[in-house]
Amino acid sequence: MGDVKKTLKDIGSFMKLPGANLFITKTADLFNWANKSSLWPLSFGLACCAIEMMATFSSRYDLDRLGMITRASPRQADLMIVAGTVTVKMGERIKTLYDQMTGPKWVIAAGSCAISGDHYRHVYSVVPGVDWIIPVDVYVPGCPPTPEAFIDGIMELQNIISNGKSNPTFNSVDSERPNIDEIKVKKKEILFNENFIDGLSLINKCKEIKSEGYDYINFITATDFEDSLVLTYLFTKNNNNEKVEINVKLDSSKKIDSITQIYPGAEWQEREVFDMFGIEFKNHPKLERILMPDDWVGYPLLKDYKMEQAKLPYRPSREDYESWKTKL
Ligand code: SF4
Repeated sequence: MGDVKKTLKDIGSFMKLPGANLFITKTADLFNWANKSSLWPLSFGLACCAIEMMATFSSRYDLDRLGMITRASPRQADLMIVAGTVTVKMGERIKTLYDQMTGPKWVIAAGSCAISGDHYRHVYSVVPGVDWIIPVDVYVPGCPPTPEAFIDGIMELQNIISNGKSNPTFNSVDSERPNIDEIKVKKKEILFNENFIDGLSLINKCKEIKSEGYDYINFITATDFEDSLVLTYLFTKNNNNEKVEINVKLDSSKKIDSITQIYPGAEWQEREVFDMFGIEFKNHPKLERILMPDDWVGYPLLKDYKMEQAKLPYRPSREDYESWKTKL
């Protein structure tokens, strides 16, 4: 950290006069000192990182000593800590909340999901970094960041404020930034430029990847682009964290070879993709639903999935709710 203006002594000088004390400083420095000493964050969280943020606000870490008191209304908050995965759906709400906050205002992107979308950056519903929607002043890496990292990020923001930064903070977001619909289009472009292989060569490709030392499969996921389904595989070398990703565009049969013989850890991941997207993994040892009940109708992450399917075992009707209420 650089030269930090921490206390009143650092931003001016005290003089003792007969019968009075005098403090001389610049108003800009005084306002910066006041701003950094009384950050009021908006209390909201998006995913697992928010749990760590809550721990940071607990008595053990005592953020009150930094002048931080969470506010339940954006009108009273001047700091937004974006902790968790930002979905496109939530992105619109985040932008509204940000615009409702008073200025000057600041944003901390906490955790790799908020910074870049991280594991989910290729998922069609996830924004690849909250700075696509609102300006960010400090990035706190981690999955999730520890409370110490949160506090470090907050102190870094205090530094920035001490040094007079109040932009880009007033009013609303830079008009150059893409809106949510543009993000969806851009995400599709990014994905289709990624490393694609033919589905028939998947097994050989996975053997090759494993022989190169990528011994861990991070995830298998799918994206429904309406005109096609795309499977994404991510592998890691455990010794140096190097990663490689492959994508496969499926044909209308929605079938592909299982890679469980090469990567046993793919077993439950393929089941999950089957459960959510209906993709059939040939030669999988036990291709059954894993999250939804066995008799569930449809595949919930397909774009054409209808919530009003005929058979929804876990979704009681309005009448059911009404009758339960009378029994309470
Ligand atoms: S960065 Fe990790 S801990 Fe944070 S929201 Fe994403 S997956 Fe969860």
